[in-house]
Amino acid sequence: MSDCIFCAIVEGTGPAHIVYSDDDVVAFLDISPVTSGHTLVVPRRHSSGLADLDPAIGGKVFAVGQRIAAAMRSGAIGADGVNLAMNDGRAAFQSVFHSHLHVVPRHTGDKVSFVKGFLTRRARDLETVAASLREAVESQP
Ligand code: AMP
Ligand code: ZN
Repeated sequence: MSDCIFCAIVEGTGPAHIVYSDDDVVAFLDISPVTSGHTLVVPRRHSSGLADLDPAIGGKVFAVGQRIAAAMRSGAIGADGVNLAMNDGRAAFQSVFHSHLHVVPRHTGDKVSFVKGFLTRRARDLETVAASLREAVESQP
């Protein structure tokens, strides 16, 4: 879709810190992370939400989310847990209407309120975080 920021990232015309990509799915760091390493997994083919997301592609998005979650635990991020979320519709906090899965690393006692975190967040050293996470994803089986 021509005016979609995530389509631009998928096509390589929009800036992003890419963590993973394959024929169907691209994953990149969220520009305003809830926690450091917060990643978005998106289908290459535009769909706006759950209703128009091909379930087979949704399965691939989820599988990549699992792989990134494992890398967040095993790699330098050293996550103790991970939140996966897909916000579907404005009432559910969706703000970018290209389907995406949030993968948010968590640490014991981090005191992040997942819902409040979506409202109060700041950018961190995205390039360093992306490089470290890419390495951890690549070393996943
Ligand atoms: P949602 O509110 O579930 O639609 O999530 C949209 C997410 O996209 C938010 O967490 C934003 O911080 C993030 N976001 C918006 N624009 C960009 C961008 N250009 N690159 C990376 N993440 C973005
Ligand atoms: Zn799009």
